[in-house]
Formats: sequence, C-alpha cells, structure tokens
Amino acid sequence: MAEEGRISRFLSGLRRPFRSRESPTPTMPLWSSGIQEPVMAQGITIPALYAVSNESLILRTVLSKLRQEMFRRGYYWEKKFTSKCTVCDEEFQQEMQQCKTCGGEVRKPDPDELTYPKWLLNQENSMEQSFYHLLHEIENDLNIVDDAFLILVKEYFIDPESKEIAFYRIKEMVRGDPIFMRIVADKRGVRGGRFKVCRIHRNEVKTHADDKTCDVCGRELEDVHYVNMAGSGKTQYFIEGEVIHVSKYTPSKLYGRSPVNTMWRQAMTLTAMDNYMYTAYQKRRMPKGIISVTTDNLESMKSFWKSVDEKMERDPHYIPRVGIESQTGRGGVNWIKFMDTLDEMQYIPVREEIRNRIAAFYGVSSIFMVDNGKSGGLNNEGMQILVTNRAVEFGQKVYTDVLFPRLLKQMSVNDWKLTLYPNEEEDEITRLRRDEQELNVAQRMAQLGFQPELLEDPSNRDIRFVYRKPQPQPQQPGMPPGGAPPGMPPGGMPPGGMPPGGMPPGGMPMRMPPQMQGGMPPARGMPPGMPMPPPQPGGQGMGIRNRGPAAPQRRTTVGSGAPVSSVQQRGPEPNLAQNVSNALLNARRPRGA
Ligand SMILES: [Zn+2]
Ligand SMILES: [Zn+2]
Repeated sequence: MAEEGRISRFLSGLRRPFRSRESPTPTMPLWSSGIQEPVMAQGITIPALYAVSNESLILRTVLSKLRQEMFRRGYYWEKKFTSKCTVCDEEFQQEMQQCKTCGGEVRKPDPDELTYPKWLLNQENSMEQSFYHLLHEIENDLNIVDDAFLILVKEYFIDPESKEIAFYRIKEMVRGDPIFMRIVADKRGVRGGRFKVCRIHRNEVKTHADDKTCDVCGRELEDVHYVNMAGSGKTQYFIEGEVIHVSKYTPSKLYGRSPVNTMWRQAMTLTAMDNYMYTAYQKRRMPKGIISVTTDNLESMKSFWKSVDEKMERDPHYIPRVGIESQTGRGGVNWIKFMDTLDEMQYIPVREEIRNRIAAFYGVSSIFMVDNGKSGGLNNEGMQILVTNRAVEFGQKVYTDVLFPRLLKQMSVNDWKLTLYPNEEEDEITRLRRDEQELNVAQRMAQLGFQPELLEDPSNRDIRFVYRKPQPQPQQPGMPPGGAPPGMPPGGMPPGGMPPGGMPPGGMPMRMPPQMQGGMPPARGMPPGMPMPPPQPGGQGMGIRNRGPAAPQRRTTVGSGAPVSSVQQRGPEPNLAQNVSNALLNARRPRGA
C-alpha cells in the first residue's frame, strides 16, 4: 500500500474536526444481513447449470471457443504512464522534465514493483495450475453462472516480538467454486456486517453481537466478506482482499445473473433433441407404428410376431411385412403411424434456430462453429471473426478493467497494468488497409509542412505517426524543383510525389482540387511557388483517397472484414441427418408385399 491516493488522504484529514452524517444507502427487503444466496430462476441450481453446460454439445462448443479466443495471445505488462508528478499525482504519457500542471518533479514507473508479480504469474499453484488455467476457469464460471471467485491465498508474516502481522505476500491463486462461494453482506449489499474473524486464528469466528477481539491473541477481529460453504459445517471465512469476485454480463451489488439459466429451456430442448436422435438411431424405444391385421388364425399370428421380435432385436430398423390368407375373404392391412419423422418435426430448422440464439448471446457467430458448409471455406475467415472480435473485446475488459486492477492492488502494483492482447484475428488485409490510410494521412501532413514521426509501440502493430511542427528554417535558394520541403527528410520524396510502392491499387489518377493547384499555403514551410508535380493519368498518385472507404456492396471478393451475406447459407443441400431421415421415411413405406 505505497500510495493511498491524494484525495482519500485529504478527505480523511478533513474529517477530523467535523462530524459527518450520510444519506441512507437503500436496503433491500429480501436481503437479510449475513450470507447471501444467488437468485436462481426457475428453481435451477448452480450444479445443474454446470451440468447442462458440459452436457450440451453446442453450449460447450460456444463456451470453449470463446474462452480460447480470449486468452489465445496471452498477456503483457504495460506502463500506466510515462511520467508521473510526485507532487500532484498527475500522470503523463510523454517523457518530460517537470510536471505540466504544477511544475513539480516527475518520476518514471517503478520496475521493482513487478519483480514479485511477474514471478508469481509464472508459477503454478499447488494444484499444478498455471495462471492461464486459472483464467480459463474464471472465464468458464463467468459464462455459465456470471460469477467468478479468485481466491488469493495470502501468507501473513508475524513479527515474533510484537505478534503483529509485519507484511504478507500472495502465495498462490486458486479459483473459488461458485457452487459454494457466497458473499457476506448486510441488507444494503455492503460487504461484511455479520461475521468477524481473526486473521491469524481463523477458528475464532464471532458475530457482530459478540465482542471485537480474538480470544487467543487479543487482536481486533476483521469483517468476513466471503465464505466457502463446501465443507459441511466447516465454513471457511475470507476477509477483505482475500477473494476477488467479478461478474461479466450482469454485475450487481451482489451476484450476477447466469446466462445459462436464461437459455435453460433452449439448452434442454437441444439435449432432448440429441437424445431423440440418439434413441432413434441406437434403439427404437417406441414402435414406429402398429400393423393391425384382421385374421382368422390368431395363433399363427402370435408365432409370427415372436420371430419378428427376435429380428427386431437384431435390427432395430426392421419392419416386418406379412401376408395372411383370409378364408372369409375379409381382412386388411392397416398402417398406424406413431413417431413423427425428423422432417415433420422441423427438426433441423428448430435446432439451427436454437443454436444460433445461444451462439448470438455469447457473440460467437454460428459460422464460427465449423459450419462454413458451402459458403466459401477459407474465404469466409474474415466474416467469422468480426463478430467474435467484439465478444472477445468485451470479455477481456472484465479482466483488464476489473479483475487485474484489483489483483494488482493486492500486490501493491500502482505503476503498471496487466493487459490481455486483443484478438488480432482480424485479417491481414484490413490491417494493411488501415496502415495504407495512415500513410496517406502522413503524406498529406508532410505536404502541409508537418513532420511525421513513426510511433514505436511494441504493443501496437499498426503504423501510427505523431506530427510535429518543424522549426522555421531559412529558405535555401537553390532548391531543386519538385524537391522535398524542408520538413521532409532529404531524398524522401521522389519527383513524382510518392514512392511507387505506396501507390493505391489500381493506379489512381491524381486529382487535385483546383484551389490546391496553385501550390500549398506558403507559410507552412513549403517554398513559395514550388511547382506541384503535374497530374499523370494512370501514373503515380498523391495518396489522396477519392473513393472513400470500401463499401461492402462494392466488394469484389468475399470476406476481408465486414460480414458479407451469402445466399448459399440458406437452403443448404440435404445433409447427413436429413438424408438419414429421408431414408427412414422411405423405409417405412412398405413397397409390395
Ligand atoms: Zn504536478
Ligand atoms: Zn487471534
């Protein structure tokens, strides 16, 4: 706890001579002070939510794909600032000698802060889990129940003489199971307010009604913020800073709301459908139909059915056919159907619909789920990813903005932040196009006399420039025509105006607005009267975009960025399941005797 923050120190200093009163924090009628229970709609328990998430193939596919994308590229440490004022705590992203605001001394981020955290994140915990495994578990919990608990196992070092805690370290990090982890809060949702525990003697648990000190050591007891109810009767108590709780989709004062709970019916329908398919193929529980036969000879019928039953055992799809002589000349064969076919139940469309809804909630496009069927295979790559990029970005924010800062605070890291690499599955072409535009802007800025300077930021692969106004220089008389303005590096600009490599594709003819033909404004460092290079049709361009950004409808190839609708996605060829269902249907119609 190196820095408490200037404002909070000021506020606590302000308090002393005054008495203060607060406006009320709203209480909730259904909350009672103590261990809070998460709301479970439709009476579905948390273990059931996990069970269905693992059981349903679609749900599990979506969840694991999302998880993989989130952490695929890893994490990195980032400076929070380049310079920070030691007087007013203002943070600056540029290198500077003294504070711009107050003129105080500035300092750089302290690299020593990271020595321990870097080591810790590279360690496995005692369950042989790396930090990544832990993140995967946390993300899974967030996507299933919208609550995740990261338990920071702290080691407290006690001074042998004063018996006080001298310092602590985070020994390891473990996931807390949302099935058993509970928040302790009062009627307002403020953490604590019920149990108190001694940091050293964990067995000494008292409620707020009891006295405030530990019976063993006499230390003041601390508020319990979280409990783990796993051991029956042996609840574990955690004080502030030992558990980090986050929600992703519906953060609230207490718990989040489980997405799987919301899509419970859909997930269960899918499971039932899978079961139906499974039974239909594996063993037919219900007969497809009944053949009722009018006969004078019931005994021979019975023996016949016996043999049929035997055959059915061997081949579940066997449909018995028989012709029986009727002495009276009466009788007939009737087909009574029991089971609907897959086609009649609209099996495939319903399944598709549910699947798309589940995928849409998590921001995973259903094409992503290896469903690129007919629509172009690899060409579709750009399209699959665009949707997930947003989901990944949103998901990563939970870590970079909430979980990691809280974790770093517990490790006393103030000058650095931990960041997940964004999902750069966005395709190369989009990135190159962006770079190209940035270069065009830089070129125009150079024409206006500014000096572009390439930003070197290892976390950013894109080309970015900062622009400076050059110092006014005396004009050199012997400037070659078409040469670079003083702001440009010598020889940086060939007479044509632009290096051939930077030309936009298609050889854009250079088109200058008439008011610019007379030369650039002379005050901007461009020598007055410098002739502009003549426009050459089909020749080198000046990096001026006259077409605007590429619109999707003008795209000639499918997929480099924005989603492109494809007609082929609808009305697919009959797939395996449909073929099988057709075959079943055909087999059911007895042809001939
Ligand atoms: Zn300052
Ligand atoms: Zn104690």
